Amino acid sequence: MKILIVEDEIKLGSYLKKGLEEAGFVVDLTHDGLDGQHLATSERYDLMILDIMLPNVDGLTLVKIIRDADNSTPILLLSALSKTEDKVKGLDMGADDYLAKPFDFAEVLARVRTLLRRGGKEIQASKIDVGDMVVDLAKRRVTRGDKRIDLTGKEFLLLEFLLLHQGEVVTRSLIASNVWDMNFDSDTNVIDVAIKRLRGKIDSDFDDKLIHTVRGMGYILELR
Ligand code: CA
Repeated sequence: MKILIVEDEIKLGSYLKKGLEEAGFVVDLTHDGLDGQHLATSERYDLMILDIMLPNVDGLTLVKIIRDADNSTPILLLSALSKTEDKVKGLDMGADDYLAKPFDFAEVLARVRTLLRRGGKEIQASKIDVGDMVVDLAKRRVTRGDKRIDLTGKEFLLLEFLLLHQGEVVTRSLIASNVWDMNFDSDTNVIDVAIKRLRGKIDSDFDDKLIHTVRGMGYILELR
C-alpha cells in the first residue's frame, strides 16, 4: 500500500512518514504543493495525506485538481484546529476525511486504515445503489429515481458511512468517531439531528424508506 504525504512542516512530515513506514506502508513525502501535485497526478497511490496550508499549491486546490482528474484515491486532509471553513470546503471538494492538528499518530493510523477499507470498496464499485437511490461515490452525486439530491459534505459522508455498512446496525458512537471528529459523549444530539436532515432529503418524499432507527442501538440503511 502506497501513501503520498504532502506536508510542509518538516518535522511533522518525517514523523508521519516514519510512523506509516513502521506500520508497513510505502510512503512518498514532499514538502511542496507543486511537487505534491506532480506526484498525485503522475503516480498511483492508495491514499493521500494533504496538509491545507502548503507552499505553491495549497491542499484544497490539490484536492480539486485530483478530483477533477477523476482520481478517487482516498484523501485525508490535515488542518489547523480553528479552520472549520477549510475542513468543510475540503470535504465539499471531495476530500474523504480530515484531521485537526495536533493529533496522535494512533489517530492518523486509524483514519488511514478506515479510508483504505473504504477506498477498496470504491474501486470495486464507485456507484452503489439501494432501491431507486444511486450514490456515485467518486462524483459524490446522489439520485433517487429521476430526482437529484443535493447533500452537504457532511451529509454525504454520513450517507456514505451508512452505505458502506448497508444492512448493519451502526451505533451513534461509531458514527461519531467515523463521520465526526468526536467522541460519542461529547454531543450525541448532533448525530440525531444530522440523521434527521439526511432523512428529510433522501427519504421523506419517497414511499420506500431507506434509513431506519433501531431503538436503543442506532441506525441501519437498507431497503425493506
Ligand atoms: Ca502547512
